[in-house]
Amino acid sequence: MKLIEFEHRVRQGTDKYGAAELKKYHSLFAIMLVASGASAGTQTPLDEAGFKRCLVSLQETARAEGIDETIVTDTLGNLKIVNRVIQLDRKQPEFTQTFAGYFNKRVTDWRVQQGRKLLKEHRPLLDKLTKEYGVPPQYLVAFWGMETNFGGYKGKMPVLDSLATLACDHRRSAYFTQELMQALKLKQKYGFSDDKMVGSWAGAMGHTQFMPTAYANYAVDGDGDGKADLWNSTDDALSSAAYFLQQLGWHRNERWGREVTLPKDFDYAHLSDGKTKTLADWAKLGLTQANGGKLPALGMQATLHVPAGHTGPAFITYQNFDVMMRWNRSVFYALSVGHLADRIAGAGHLQVPAPEQQALSREMIKQMQSKLNDLGYDVGKPDGILGPKSIAGLRSYQLSKGLVADGFPQQQTLQVMGLL
Ligand code: CA
Repeated sequence: MKLIEFEHRVRQGTDKYGAAELKKYHSLFAIMLVASGASAGTQTPLDEAGFKRCLVSLQETARAEGIDETIVTDTLGNLKIVNRVIQLDRKQPEFTQTFAGYFNKRVTDWRVQQGRKLLKEHRPLLDKLTKEYGVPPQYLVAFWGMETNFGGYKGKMPVLDSLATLACDHRRSAYFTQELMQALKLKQKYGFSDDKMVGSWAGAMGHTQFMPTAYANYAVDGDGDGKADLWNSTDDALSSAAYFLQQLGWHRNERWGREVTLPKDFDYAHLSDGKTKTLADWAKLGLTQANGGKLPALGMQATLHVPAGHTGPAFITYQNFDVMMRWNRSVFYALSVGHLADRIAGAGHLQVPAPEQQALSREMIKQMQSKLNDLGYDVGKPDGILGPKSIAGLRSYQLSKGLVADGFPQQQTLQVMGLL
């Protein structure tokens, strides 16, 4: 797979979209393309009759999994197809997402203020969670803000219907069958009503938007009422976020990363050499903290990100950034959570704001790829997705033209190529 960046979630340590090969993949630049809807669609579309037949087979699976017969008959047997869910699953964006377009919508001043307020309000619990799980309060509040705007929008789609629809659709049937079974087990365990079990169109639930498997494995009863209720209990939700992050491998007493300043003559080849470097190595290459301070000369491994090319902000990230990517496998997402957490803890805006950039169409990226191929930079078959080969080709082209060789399709580069 060649996707630089995508929005898909990894709620339970396994990649629900089957892209485990991307686990170690660090994006050089985060042109974001959502990877859903890639299937060619040769199968027959799911209709009512097909859905009914599928439910019968799901009932067999549920019985084999030991789910109560009343749930198998009364709940599973009466689930409904939701055509809109299939439409949403097939939706393919025509344009790439710019870093500013993503980041500025999510790290807003309102969200920072609200986060600071909630941090104060929930301080005793948050401190307790930090002690127990190692995750500092501002991160827990930041995830909460990113996922549901602090519980303001938890999704209203009927989760069981949505999951059954996706389980019966051909595209990701196995994954969603497993999630549906987990959701039915949650209903059985906690006695949740169908009305209560609402969430995103893909089945993510509650304040933290956990998929059923994550709910089953990581939801914690924080308020001690005997149930882990991620819809109605903020104590349960914050406790679950803390436990989840600990289980994903959070490193106590380490930051996520930080904004940095690159030296004027920075060689962007360091971005694409695929290696992490120690902080001391980055400091030797001239990187400083964004406020001008020296990077600590530590042996800690750090990765460089320049999500909007050389005119935008630069970041180095540590191991906890990778942990945040296990919650949601998107560089844009993790950078947003990290910065939001810093802001909630009192930090100011980025030194270099995310630059407003034109979103590029997939068609434009294809044209750029064809052009690079014509000029002798082999970037593979034009597919409209800015993968490592395209970035390498673009860098070589930029070098040959005396442009800043950041491998990012800046307006200037596209102009020189004659595409704008
Ligand atoms: Ca509870």
